[in-house]
Amino acid sequence: MNGNTWMDEALCWINGERRTLFESMEVIDPSNGERIGNVPLGGAELAEEAVTAAWEAFPAWSSLLPRERACYLTRWAEKILQHKEELAPLLTREQGKPLAESTGELEVAASFVQWYAEEAKRVSGEVLPPYKPNQRITVIRQPVGVAALITPWNYPAAMVTRKAAPALAAGCTVVLKPAKQTPLIAIALFRLLMETGLPAGAANLVTGAASAIGEAWLGDPRVRKVSFTGSTEVGKKLMRQAADQVKRVSLELGGNAPAIVFGDADLERAAAAIADNKFENCGQMCNGINRIYAEETVAEELAERMVAKVKQMRVGPGIRPGIHIGPLIHDSARRNVHRLVSDAVEKGARLRTGGHPLTEGEWAGGSYYAPTVLTGVDESMDLTREEVFGPVAPILSFRTEEEVVDQANQTPYGLAAYLFTRDVARTHRVSEKLEFGMVGVNGTSLSVPQAPFGGIKESGVGREGGRYGLEEFLELKTITAMVD
Ligand code: ADP
Repeated sequence: MNGNTWMDEALCWINGERRTLFESMEVIDPSNGERIGNVPLGGAELAEEAVTAAWEAFPAWSSLLPRERACYLTRWAEKILQHKEELAPLLTREQGKPLAESTGELEVAASFVQWYAEEAKRVSGEVLPPYKPNQRITVIRQPVGVAALITPWNYPAAMVTRKAAPALAAGCTVVLKPAKQTPLIAIALFRLLMETGLPAGAANLVTGAASAIGEAWLGDPRVRKVSFTGSTEVGKKLMRQAADQVKRVSLELGGNAPAIVFGDADLERAAAAIADNKFENCGQMCNGINRIYAEETVAEELAERMVAKVKQMRVGPGIRPGIHIGPLIHDSARRNVHRLVSDAVEKGARLRTGGHPLTEGEWAGGSYYAPTVLTGVDESMDLTREEVFGPVAPILSFRTEEEVVDQANQTPYGLAAYLFTRDVARTHRVSEKLEFGMVGVNGTSLSVPQAPFGGIKESGVGREGGRYGLEEFLELKTITAMVD
């Protein structure tokens, strides 16, 4: 099967069948601005149809034995891995990331499905001690019901499976809307899910107008759960809409991750880990480092090591071998990145490398931005408060542990933080004081199937990953019985 076949069949999936509409929307390749495909432009009507299918499928799907649901997920994971070489170019073309990152993302996507295939079998309840004679108190876990899943464009494959796999494992049926920039990989993943023989209606996918689809789902009493990954702004809106029917929500929103490098850290290791995190996916990662705090004594050396690494990174179309950094998702994202860099430079930051759009030659037509390192950054600059979401590494310096922890926490966000030190006591002291949902120490890998991923404060509610991610799709029920 070649890449085009996946695009020719880029339709919605409702009740186990492909569904198209007269109206469609374009999918654009951010590496050159060209149209690569079209998908149906769905709205409230299609959204409602999807919910009806999921609602009708729920009694049968939720009554299957957990091990039966697990079989579908196991097959799905196998199929994703089997097809990853064909799917990676599709992901790269609509999203922009280098091919190796796309393949890696598909492997991660499959790992979530595999994990939840196993975890599906381990949902259990409890028997509690009685309060009165002859009383039996049991607590059981049941699927929430129809779950609406709304996914972003930055990890368009992994976010689909990180939500759909635990939902299906729990016994929920789902309706999913991918981001308009990246619907093709979601549609392809759904096709593989359908090929497992999944009962019709257990998983449905709608593409189209985000706010119309969102409103239809949030206003539909049959939808009992919303799981969203995206911007804090849209997340807040969905939370308000969900309040009307007290729907359960899981929100994975923006971040403003600090990375703190103490003077005793292994600087080479810190520079490599920070550069890997910072420039992955062209800096478009919610747990991506946004502010680098280096202890005054090592700030210059860290900057030099970072600059050396960044200068070796090749920017270009992700589809080409040897490329480290692809384009940003859209020109508006590039303008925003440049606005933040210009603001920092105007306020006195020193540009060590990069700092400008790339528009000539092989970059023409794409949203490329030169990977950037800034030093002499301080908190008057907008890029320390806003999520940059681009290939920009701003380095600030600090004197004391107390001061840097305080600065790191000065943000309404609380998704991820990173620290680099060889001091074990400090590792624990600082990790515990940082007001973030996740802390990486001497490394930056956070999203793995077994661990809870998610933020506090305005970075969201709920967790994805591990048994915690499954809990988000389960309700507790207490059954208190008198047996005399
Ligand atoms: P980003 O800033 O990363 O594009 P968004 O929050 O705009 O993030 O998008 C994340 C997901 O939320 C996408 O699938 C997008 O289509 C969807 N979305 C955007 N606006 C709404 C809305 N009003 N209601 C429901 N979903 C929305």
